[in-house]
Amino acid sequence: MNRFIYTALPTRVVFDVEHLSVVQDEANRLGMKAPMVVTGQQQSSLGLTINSKLGACHWDGARMHTPVVETERALEFFHERKADGIISLGGGSAIGLGKALALRTDCPQICIPTSFAGSEMTNILGETTASGKTTKRDPHIQPETVIYDPALLQSLPISFAATSGMNAVAHAVEGLYAVDGNPIISLMAEEGIAALAEALPKGPSAYPQALYGSWLCGTVLGSVSMALHHKLCHVLGGMFNLPHAETHTVILPHATAYNAPAAPKAMQRIANALNATSAAAGLYDLAKALGAPLSLKQLGMPEASLDKAVDIALSNPYPNPRGLERGPIRQLLDDAYHGRRPQH
Ligand code: NAD
Repeated sequence: MNRFIYTALPTRVVFDVEHLSVVQDEANRLGMKAPMVVTGQQQSSLGLTINSKLGACHWDGARMHTPVVETERALEFFHERKADGIISLGGGSAIGLGKALALRTDCPQICIPTSFAGSEMTNILGETTASGKTTKRDPHIQPETVIYDPALLQSLPISFAATSGMNAVAHAVEGLYAVDGNPIISLMAEEGIAALAEALPKGPSAYPQALYGSWLCGTVLGSVSMALHHKLCHVLGGMFNLPHAETHTVILPHATAYNAPAAPKAMQRIANALNATSAAAGLYDLAKALGAPLSLKQLGMPEASLDKAVDIALSNPYPNPRGLERGPIRQLLDDAYHGRRPQH
């Protein structure tokens, strides 16, 4: 055993409920008298339903990457309505706006995720301004309560369920070789990958199991440091406005192949969870079986910008199992651009 530190995150989790019947009880538990329901446009009608039950107010302006200008408008509305809590419902974008408001108001937060992104289990907030995307961790960002209701995921387009699920798997993969990893988080990571790998190919009937997996993977993301894979996705998403879940899906097998020689125990656990002989190839095969995009080319990334992406990825050093080597990282991005299956 190596020395480790394990800090449990304080979020209360309520799983598999009778279609949102517990929201009122959970809001009461946190002392919310006038919560603000936060959604994006697509989940607006569901947000209205919750709003009508709680007699709260509703904001449906959540957008991808949490633009600060939008947060400021929502914050004004929050104060106008004298709201005293946040109930965010949606994918990572709606939850991101809820977190941005909770950080600015110090009020309690309930998250009801409708995708597998995992943001609800973290104290991390990414926000964008004209000068780019920045990420911060703060205890005020961590939601007090998360309600997982698998029925809400039945409306997910199959293609987004696949990439969103792979986004969750990516948190667990990096958790297994995190510089600050620990045995409890590794258990969660392995179980999370296994649950998602088994459930996603079965489609909507297995979304409850996939949601259980995404909860575990989100907990991993919130608990330990991510490495090269998340860095590359952050850089590519920010530079080329590539879609979040799809970018994670394409990069994951290649970032895993890059790290494989430096993290053999983690690779063995990932392969076991996937029921595959190789971690990197197993991840590629899972994405392929789900019909997910496999190349950056498919996502519209310009090939001529790969060198610039490497420069940015290397500009700030960060912990990674294998040292950051320019040539092999350029090769990693070339493989991802063309969607080649990793050899090992
Ligand atoms: P998203 O929230 O932007 O959703 C993508 C699309 O899917 C939207 O149009 C949304 O309305 C739709 N959608 C979501 N759930 C649906 C459902 N059940 N049925 C039908 N349509 C549905 O995408 P995402 O991938 O969930 O989240 C991405 C964002 O979350 C990014 O901004 C990313 O940076 C952030 N994120 C943050 C963290 C964190 O810990 N801070 C973790 C993961 C992701």
